[in-house]
Amino acid sequence: MTKKLRVGILGATGMVGQRFVELLENHPQFQITALAASDRSQGKTFAEACTWRLAGEMPDAVRKMQVRAPAPPLDCDLVFSSLPGDIARETEGYFAGAGYPVISNSSAFRMDHDVPLLIPEVNPEHLALLDTQKRSSDGQHGFIVTNPNCSTIMLALALAPLQQKFGIESVVATTMQALSGAGYPGVASLAISDNVLPFIESEEEKIEEETLKILGQMNGQSIEDAPMKVSAQCHRVNVSDGHLAAVRVKLKDSTPIADVKQALSSFRGLPQDLKLHSAPQQVIILREERDRPQPRLDRDAGNGMSISIGRLQPDKVLDYRFVVLSHNTIRGAAGAAILNAELLVAMGKLK
Ligand code: NAP
Repeated sequence: MTKKLRVGILGATGMVGQRFVELLENHPQFQITALAASDRSQGKTFAEACTWRLAGEMPDAVRKMQVRAPAPPLDCDLVFSSLPGDIARETEGYFAGAGYPVISNSSAFRMDHDVPLLIPEVNPEHLALLDTQKRSSDGQHGFIVTNPNCSTIMLALALAPLQQKFGIESVVATTMQALSGAGYPGVASLAISDNVLPFIESEEEKIEEETLKILGQMNGQSIEDAPMKVSAQCHRVNVSDGHLAAVRVKLKDSTPIADVKQALSSFRGLPQDLKLHSAPQQVIILREERDRPQPRLDRDAGNGMSISIGRLQPDKVLDYRFVVLSHNTIRGAAGAAILNAELLVAMGKLK
């Protein structure tokens, strides 16, 4: 058996950090050896610092680990980061500079021209950016790979097969995003009870910009944005986990609905071919019931790594419309970053 890579988690006590801890328990390739969080938590054991907010118990292996400052040196071979965006830029930059591979879930570096914004099923060829990325002062080991925003991931996964097979002219997406997407304690209960909030800071911009980069093509040493228009409106809704988006798409050419269904339901990528540990067998689950997908019923599909699409039908304004759902802290965050790391191992870029 090959030796496991030792991983550190930055922001380990948060909503996404806890998902990392949960998903990495018994992972065949990675073993948690370091946990880091704010000075509120540093010096305490993880059990003291972290109020466990996921179903089931905090894994025994991390309970007595001491929470460190998120600064190198840290006892690990790579770091997963789920730090808040405003401190991630400096901190992740330090780690990469000190020679650590940084697999980040934060927004800080996503749009940097030399940083892959990776969804392994969609754009694995963007990892070529690492050939010229120079973040590390040791000249070789340190680098940064990011995963997209939690709503962008499901949108890009839904659009990728349509873009590959038919070409897309324009997309309009209206999201209904879960409370866990705002971290803990997140949105005040009095603000969200009996209510919908039609504003999430910077979210619409992230979806509109990141989607174009993810679906863009490598052109020499850089990425050329996908030539389509994307418009997003975002809402916070009173759901614990699972982001939903109502999407309308205009394709380049007139395409029968049967071909659209076939393209979505047969979509697969490198993670499925390589049988990566976290890869779902079915990337997109196409539902025919008229009232699915729903967050409570469908967010855990494929262990939270599949996305579900339903209500696919012709649209009177654009060509087609559908509803897409995914688990925002699994496929939308920690699970996405872990799948990125599994692909990096498979491609020999993490040793
Ligand atoms: P969260 O629940 O608020 O957790 C934040 C984490 O960062 C905690 O571990 C916290 O440690 C730590 N932290 C806060 N300030 C710090 C500081 N100054 N120095 C060091 N550590 C600090 O947030 P979250 O929902 O897990 O989100 C984390 C990141 O993932 C954000 O960048 C977010 O945008 C991104 N993201 C979240 C989701 C989602 O669905 N939640 C999805 C995709 C991406 P303490 O406990 O010690 O305060």
